Amino acid sequence: MTGGAPISPDPLSTARLPALFIADLHLSAARPQTAAAFFDFLSGPARRAGSLFILGDLFEYWAGDDDAGSPFNQKVCLALRELAANGIAAFFMPGNRDLLAGDGLAASSGMHLLPDPASVRFGAQTLLLSHGDALCTDDLSYQAYRQQVHDPVWQTGFLAQPLDTRREFIEQVRNRSETAKRGKRADIMDVNTDAVANLLRAHGYPALIHGHTHRPGHHTYMLDGHRCERYVLADWHDHPAWLTYDYAGFSVYNHIPATKEE
Ligand code: MN
Repeated sequence: MTGGAPISPDPLSTARLPALFIADLHLSAARPQTAAAFFDFLSGPARRAGSLFILGDLFEYWAGDDDAGSPFNQKVCLALRELAANGIAAFFMPGNRDLLAGDGLAASSGMHLLPDPASVRFGAQTLLLSHGDALCTDDLSYQAYRQQVHDPVWQTGFLAQPLDTRREFIEQVRNRSETAKRGKRADIMDVNTDAVANLLRAHGYPALIHGHTHRPGHHTYMLDGHRCERYVLADWHDHPAWLTYDYAGFSVYNHIPATKEE
């Protein structure tokens, strides 16, 4: 296998089936219904799972691990810790909203952090996990911003600022981003077909699971003679939805549009 950051095999070896996959919850104190749905999910379906994978944008934003101290974030971390205490391994891959989540969040929540992308194997099946924003390569202004905020030097400088200053900066970026999105064509905010193909090729034609685009679906591709699948996770704005993988295959719980062939 080539490409992607090396990951320690240890935490992922604790992943058991059925595995549940969610992304783009955008949790915040301002959306109590979504938070309530997440807490119900953690104490219900997730408790009956073997493992839980959260593929980014769990939080509306995460200004740094000292943000774990707010009452709302503490409640989220406590609920996740209870899941871990019940023996369900939980994994978290930061998205663009919570890219500053680090060891502090892992310690508070009991989740294992994953790099983006990360692959996990269950029997003969390899699942490749990604948040998905790195695949939206047609959105050049977003990719320039992404490169900046992933720069370790930028991150160190940013995290050195007071928490309130960081929160203010993030609010401004969010407002600018919402304005910019309204002026962008919808298709440039979706994943780029070549970027997906390159990623699948580099990882040996796995099944890809990602979020970020808020365009839930199941896509199948024939690539270099291999049949590949791409599952796009739903956001939780209107209703919770999750993808389950078990030895019997994939199933989607809650609302997802019908399968599309490409
Ligand atoms: Mn995202």
